[in-house]
Amino acid sequence: MKTVILDNGHGIYTAGKRSPVWADGSQLFEYEFNRDVVKRIARYLENENIPYSILVPELDDISLSERVRRANEIYKYSGNNAYLISIHANAGGGTGWECFTSVGQTKADPIATILCEEAQKEFPDLRIRFDYSDGDPDKESQFYILKNTHCPAVLTENFFMDTEKDCRFIMSEEGRQRVARMHVKAIKRIA
Ligand SMILES: [Zn+2]
Repeated sequence: MKTVILDNGHGIYTAGKRSPVWADGSQLFEYEFNRDVVKRIARYLENENIPYSILVPELDDISLSERVRRANEIYKYSGNNAYLISIHANAGGGTGWECFTSVGQTKADPIATILCEEAQKEFPDLRIRFDYSDGDPDKESQFYILKNTHCPAVLTENFFMDTEKDCRFIMSEEGRQRVARMHVKAIKRIA
């Protein structure tokens, strides 16, 4: 069975990775959302006996190069039988769910397809974007993890933290459960 490496990047002090402060004073910090979703996924995987590894157990911002080093280590240790899902909240104005892979046709593409299918089932009225490779410069740096890991790697952007409707959804218990569940359903199919 494949090991799923769960990347919950960004740290407690990472600048900018947060929502605006909404009228009621609430705010979402991406490091907290990413870690909470990964924790929820891990709990499900524990019950299903699916092997997983949490890439960043710390709250700090771990550099992309160190995250890639860890992922490659885990991949080697798994006998090259692992893949990585990097979990994020989106920003930049927009709505919905997106999934990215490295550019070109790779082993990450069928994994991304399964994630997209499960996102579509879980959130049927969403716009689902897949294999974003047209080089939006703001997003390029996030692709570092996709380009430099030896294992297949995908990155999910789970709603927009700077769009209030989306942000409220991923601040809610229900929203977080549904985002986690959708990943678990995909992981069970990939395993
Ligand atoms: Zn992010």
